[in-house]
Amino acid sequence: MKVFKFGGASVKDAAGVRNLAEIVRSQGHNVLIVVSAMGKTTNALEDLVRAFVDKQTEACQHQFDTIQTYHNTIINELTGDFSLVHQTFAQLESYLSQPVKGIYDEVYDQIVSLGEVLSTQIIAAYLTQAGLNAQWLDARQLIRTDTTFREGRVDWDTTARQIKEAVNKSGVSITQGFIGQTEDKRTTTLGREGSDYTAAIFAFCLNAESVTIWKDVPGVLNADPKWFDDTVLLERLTYQDAIELAYYGATVIHPKTIKPLQNKGIPLYVRSFLKPDAPGTVIGNYERHLTIPSFIFKVNQVLISLHPNDFSFIAEDNLSRIFGRFAQAGVKINLMQNTAISFSVVVDNNPDRVPALLNLLKQDFRVTYNSDVELITIRYYDQGTIDRVIPNKKLLLEQKSRYTVQLVVKELS
Ligand code: ASP
Ligand code: MG
Repeated sequence: MKVFKFGGASVKDAAGVRNLAEIVRSQGHNVLIVVSAMGKTTNALEDLVRAFVDKQTEACQHQFDTIQTYHNTIINELTGDFSLVHQTFAQLESYLSQPVKGIYDEVYDQIVSLGEVLSTQIIAAYLTQAGLNAQWLDARQLIRTDTTFREGRVDWDTTARQIKEAVNKSGVSITQGFIGQTEDKRTTTLGREGSDYTAAIFAFCLNAESVTIWKDVPGVLNADPKWFDDTVLLERLTYQDAIELAYYGATVIHPKTIKPLQNKGIPLYVRSFLKPDAPGTVIGNYERHLTIPSFIFKVNQVLISLHPNDFSFIAEDNLSRIFGRFAQAGVKINLMQNTAISFSVVVDNNPDRVPALLNLLKQDFRVTYNSDVELITIRYYDQGTIDRVIPNKKLLLEQKSRYTVQLVVKELS
C-alpha cells in the first residue's frame, strides 16, 4: 500500500478537494491518505485559542464564525453527507462555552487539532459520495504520544500496534495529519507542519511501499523560488541530503519525516498536485549525493552572544548550563559557534520565547544580541555560491564544514 499526504494548500477550497479525489482515483488504489487542515485553518485556530484563553469573548466568537463560514463555503460547493462536520463545530462551540481547563499548550491542542478533524470529515464525505468509499480513521486513537502538548513525542510500540490493528491495507483510508493522543485520551499535536511526519509514522508502521507528499511546487527545488528565478528541480535525493536540507530549514519537507522512512528504506516522493503526472522528486537510498548547490534562507533570526560573567572558558560546565537554558525556554538552536570566552547562537526570533530565554541567560552571562539577521545555508557550496548571496549584506559570522557553509548576515542599511 501507499501513503499520500495532502497539505493545507492542496485542499484550501472545493476545487482542491475535487482534485484530491481525482488523484486518488487515478493513482491510489490501496492508499492511506493523510490530510492537513484546510488552507490557513491552523493559524486561524491558533488565533481562536489566544482569544479563548484571554477571555476575549467577542474576538473568540468572531474567530469561530470565520472558521465555520470558511468550511461551510467549501461544503456548499461539494456534495456529500457533512453531518459529522456540523457535529464537530457544535463540539467546539460547547468547549468554548466552558471555562478554560488546563495549561495553555493543552488547551491549544484540544482546539487546534480540530482543523484536521474537519478537513478529513469533509474529504471523507466527498470521497464516499464520489464512489471512492473512504474509511475515516481517527488518528488520535492510533498515534500515541507523551504529554508534551504541541510537540508530542511518539510512543512507537503502542502506535505501531494500534495502526496495524486498525488500518485496512486495501482500499482507501483517510486520516488526520499532525494529531495524536496521550494514554489518558487527551489530544496532542506533533508540532507545526507535522502532517508529513504523520505520513511517515503510518508508512513505517505499515511497511508501506512509498510515501507521496503532494505539494504546490513541482518537487524539491535547490532554492525557494521566492529568492531565485533560476531554481532547479532535484530529481533524486539521498535520505541524507534530504534530512540535511530539511534540518537547515528547507520547508518543503518536515525534518522529522525522513528518519522513519530511511530506517525502512521507504521511498518518499514529492510531487505537484497541480501536475499529478509529472515525476517530481524521489528521496531514497542512492549512492550519489547532489552535484549542484542548494540554498536555504531563514529570515527573522536573532544572533545571541554569551560571555561568562567571571571570564571563565566556554567548556563543559558552561555549555551544559547554556543548553539547559535553551531547553527550558523551548528554543531550538539553528547554528552555534564558540571562542574561548564567548558562545554565539542563532535562533528563530519567536516573540513568545526569545525574551524569556534572554532573561534566563542573563542570570549567568553577559548577553548581547543582534536581531533581524538572516541565516543562509548553502549545501555543496563553493566560493562562487557564497559571493552570490552576500552582496549588500554584512557578514557577521561564517561556519564551514566539508559540504555545508552557514552565513549569518545583516542587510546593509
Ligand atoms: N495543519 C498543521 C499546521 O499547519 C499541520 C500541517 O499542516 O502539517 O501546522
Ligand atoms: Mg497546515
